[in-house]
Amino acid sequence: MKTARITGSDTQYPIGKIICLARNYVEHIRELGNDTPEQPVLFMKPSTSVIGSGDCIVIPSYSTECHHEVELALLMGRGGKAIPEGEALEHLAGYGVALDMTLRDVQGELKKKGLPWEIAKGFDTSCPLSEFVPAEAVADPQALRLRLEINGQLRQDGTTDLMIHPVRRIISHVSSIFTLEPGDVILTGTPAGVGVVRSGDRLQAELVGLATLEVTVG
Ligand code: MG
Repeated sequence: MKTARITGSDTQYPIGKIICLARNYVEHIRELGNDTPEQPVLFMKPSTSVIGSGDCIVIPSYSTECHHEVELALLMGRGGKAIPEGEALEHLAGYGVALDMTLRDVQGELKKKGLPWEIAKGFDTSCPLSEFVPAEAVADPQALRLRLEINGQLRQDGTTDLMIHPVRRIISHVSSIFTLEPGDVILTGTPAGVGVVRSGDRLQAELVGLATLEVTVG
């Protein structure tokens, strides 16, 4: 079983379901030529997709185009169903940084056929995840910055004020469909700058000033 850790404490949460938003930053929607959805586009990764700092991403043999997407990750500390936006942040245990590793070639074929994305998004090692800073350490989740360097070169650099759906609304919306439980994780979408990773790459992701994550591509 995979666990989520809160930085600076012994608190751990067994990771439950991982719910992910797609298309939550306008510039990223443009770079992939997608339409802007009215409701958040949701998909899931299994908990078995999680790896941590120091671990290795393994690209499945059925893909030749694996992309990085750096994202703000939310860890639920309290569960709930149809959580009101005004109470949403009180349900969080912490904030972290994640990589939503995506087999873009496979996803492209699935999209064309109208098929689900899981084999492009939920394969083993597709969800590198940092430790989480306690939610109390973040006054405003829409004032955070995400960065990703690959082999020391900046690839993604975005701020959470550019989200289409803010964190409060995401939690409220997701919990109106899926009952949330402690240990569930929500990935909130990627800012612009996604691109290919290759064998041997070293990925350093940062929720600036709060959490870091370093993985390599096998
Ligand atoms: Mg994503």
